[in-house]
Amino acid sequence: MSTELNPFDIAQRQLDEAAELLGLDEATHQLLRWPRRELRVIIPVRMDDGTVQVFHGYRVQYNDARGATKGGLRWHPDETIDTVRALAAWMAWKTAVVDIPLGGGKGGVTCSPKEMSQGEQERLARGYIRAIHRIIDDKTDVPAPDVYTNPQIMAWMMDEFSIIKGYNVPGMITGKPLPLGGSEGRGDATARGGVYTVREASKALDIDLRGATAAIQGYGNAGQFVHKLGEEILSLKVVAVSDSRGGVYREEGISFEEGVAWKNKNGTVVDMANTKNVTNEELLELDVAVLFPSALENVITGANARNIKAKISAELANGPTTPEADDILHERGVYVIPDFLCNAGGVTVSYFEQVQNAYDFYWPVELVHERLDAKMTAAFHAVHKMAQEKSVHNRLAAYLVAVQRVAEACKLRGWV
Ligand code: GLU
Repeated sequence: MSTELNPFDIAQRQLDEAAELLGLDEATHQLLRWPRRELRVIIPVRMDDGTVQVFHGYRVQYNDARGATKGGLRWHPDETIDTVRALAAWMAWKTAVVDIPLGGGKGGVTCSPKEMSQGEQERLARGYIRAIHRIIDDKTDVPAPDVYTNPQIMAWMMDEFSIIKGYNVPGMITGKPLPLGGSEGRGDATARGGVYTVREASKALDIDLRGATAAIQGYGNAGQFVHKLGEEILSLKVVAVSDSRGGVYREEGISFEEGVAWKNKNGTVVDMANTKNVTNEELLELDVAVLFPSALENVITGANARNIKAKISAELANGPTTPEADDILHERGVYVIPDFLCNAGGVTVSYFEQVQNAYDFYWPVELVHERLDAKMTAAFHAVHKMAQEKSVHNRLAAYLVAVQRVAEACKLRGWV
């Protein structure tokens, strides 16, 4: 992979820029450039046809100065140690920018879950926990769902971990199903948090979003829920949606019910009735008020950033925009709500889930929404204000807010 598109190189370059602006001392800068601990494992799994397949897995604990490392598990064919390192770094900045008492970590397995049966997925989930259980628990490092992992997978992992320990440990993982200690409001939390930040951005920019157009790139958990909540909370008109196989466009709008029904029936949004097929690349360049990159890294790059026409790019994905693209979007006046701010709702409600697990006492959904809104709104304004004060783009501003907080914790502990 070229350095320009290697996610960990990108994460380090972003940090370097922030470190320079903050005037970070060299030791703190070097400490924050690398994960504190990383583990690589192989996981043999008996497949349904009787053969054994050997999978590669990872867990990276980036920084725990502010609290236990926290972050999801991604199961994807392109997963590498460098994607996991980058995602772990972004988790450290994410928990800091929303000011929750956690650090950052991430994990993953290189695999193609779409081609695996439920039984194979369960055996992989349990095998992964047996491989990494020594370095995780409810007080040190707490996994969660990410791309192609879900509450069922969290449930198997929690069960395997509890079997190893000999007692029930619901707080060792978040994003669990409700009957096993999951939190109300965790399912749509990433999208909901993102919608709250778009609401605040529209006020700050004085744009009326009622009836305004939106396009959603990626139609997994975040993409589907942002379709629903974008309609419900912001009254957006979603004119285009896409998934890994391609996208569809309709000028009059595509409703959430229609999008999800088609996706569930056909496994893709492509060929939806009375729509025009568009590619993922075309979708990103549509003239819409709000663009939601909600899939994977590096979709907005130096090559297409000049063609992005959205007023607001609300990044529900991690790492969708490269540093070259950030500069171009800023110059062109596209208002980017950067990933680790925009998609921080997921980890924020994960944190609420951990608190509820610790107390064994559960909150109503209204309370989860209210507390999530307060966290996202405060984080948005801290970043927006920093961007204005320093005349920098929002991602750099988010870095300035987050890195300062992590650096302060490292210093207070006497690490640097
Ligand atoms: N995977 C999600 C993220 O990238 C959620 C992490 C969590 O809940 O710990 O933020």
